[in-house]
Amino acid sequence: MTLKDYLDGLTTNPLLKGILSVHTMLHGSPPSMASVTYHAQVTGSFYQSVHSIKGGGKSLVDSFLSVLKGLGVDFFCGSGVSRILTSQDGSITGVTLDSGDYIACENCIFSIHPSYLPDLVEERFFRPAFLRRVRAYEDTPSAFMIFARSDRPIPEVENSNIYLCPSPDLERWLHNGAGERELPHYISCSRNIDGTGGQGVVLMRMERSDRQAFSRTSEYRARKKESAERMLAFVEEKVPSLAGALIPVESATPLTFMRYGNSPRGSLYGSCIRSVNSTPCQGPRSGAYISPDRP
Ligand SMILES: Cc1cc2nc3c(=O)[nH]c(=O)nc-3n(C[C@H](O)[C@H](O)[C@H](O)COP(=O)(O)OP(=O)(O)OC[C@H]3O[C@@H](n4cnc5c(N)ncnc54)[C@H](O)[C@@H]3O)c2cc1C
Repeated sequence: MTLKDYLDGLTTNPLLKGILSVHTMLHGSPPSMASVTYHAQVTGSFYQSVHSIKGGGKSLVDSFLSVLKGLGVDFFCGSGVSRILTSQDGSITGVTLDSGDYIACENCIFSIHPSYLPDLVEERFFRPAFLRRVRAYEDTPSAFMIFARSDRPIPEVENSNIYLCPSPDLERWLHNGAGERELPHYISCSRNIDGTGGQGVVLMRMERSDRQAFSRTSEYRARKKESAERMLAFVEEKVPSLAGALIPVESATPLTFMRYGNSPRGSLYGSCIRSVNSTPCQGPRSGAYISPDRP
C-alpha cells in the first residue's frame, strides 16, 4: 500500500496528511509512490530517537574499517568495479576494476545504484523480469544543499530539525515547474560537540535533477553561488533567528551528487522505494546479493 492511500484512508485533514508525510524528504519517494511500510520504518525510528555521531559520519566508517581490518578484511577504496564476471553455469567468478586488476570471488554483494547493474553483468545472468524491473526504476529527486557553520549556538536548531513546506501537499516536490520557493526545505544542525560554541548547519532543498542548470559549463560556479545566496536569503526570511548566523562553507548541486555520490542522474537517494516494487521478483542467480536498501 502506498503512503498516500494509507493517509487517505486515515484522515481527510490535508495538514495532518502533510505532517505525516513530511519525512518523505528523508527517503525521497513521494507519498503516491512510497510504500507505507518503508516510510514507517524510516519515520518511526526517526520519531523515536535521532542521534548524531560523535566525530561525524566518517568516524562510523573509520570504526568499521578498523574492526574489519583487524579481522583480516582487505579494502580497495576508490576502486570502481568495471565488470562482474560470470561462468556459463550462471555463477559469479570475479570482478574487474577500473584499473584493470582482477579479483576472483564466488559471491558479490551489489550495493550501488541499480541502474548500473545491467551494464556491469552479462545480460544472460539475469531473468528477463528482473532486468525489466530494474530498468523501470525511477530515481528520487535531487537537491541543492548548503553546508554552513555558525560561530554562535543557535538554540532553534539544536537537537531539532526544521522542515519548511510551503504546502502540505508533499507531492508537489515532483513537479518540474515548481519555483525554488515552492519546494520543501530541510534544515539540520550538528550538535556542538567540540566545546567551541559553534555549530554546523545543513540546508537542503529537494528538487528535480536539473542537469541543464547545473551542467559543468563556464557559468556553473556562478549559478551555484547565486542559487546558494537565494536559498540562504529564503531560509533567513522564514527562520529569522538564523539571520546573520550562517557562514556558508560549501554547497552541492545535482552535479555534485552525480560526481561524488556516483548517482547516474544526480538523484539524492538513488531509486524510489516504490510500493509496487515490494512484490517479490526472482533476482539474479547464485552468488549475487543486492543490497536491501535498494528497491
Ligand atoms: C544528503 C544526505 C543526507 C543523509 N542523511 C542521513 C542521515 O542523517 N541518517 C541516515 O540514516 N541516512 C541518511 N542518508 C541516507 C544514507 O546516506 C543512505 O541510506 C545510505 O548511504 C545508503 O547506503 P548504500 O551503501 O546503500 O549506498 P551508498 O552510500 O550510495 O553507497 C554506494 C557506493 O557505491 C559506490 N559505487 C558506485 N558505482 C560503483 C562501482 N562501479 N564500483 C564500486 N563502487 C561503486 C558509490 O561511489 C558509493 O560509495 C542521507 C543521504 C543523503 C544523500
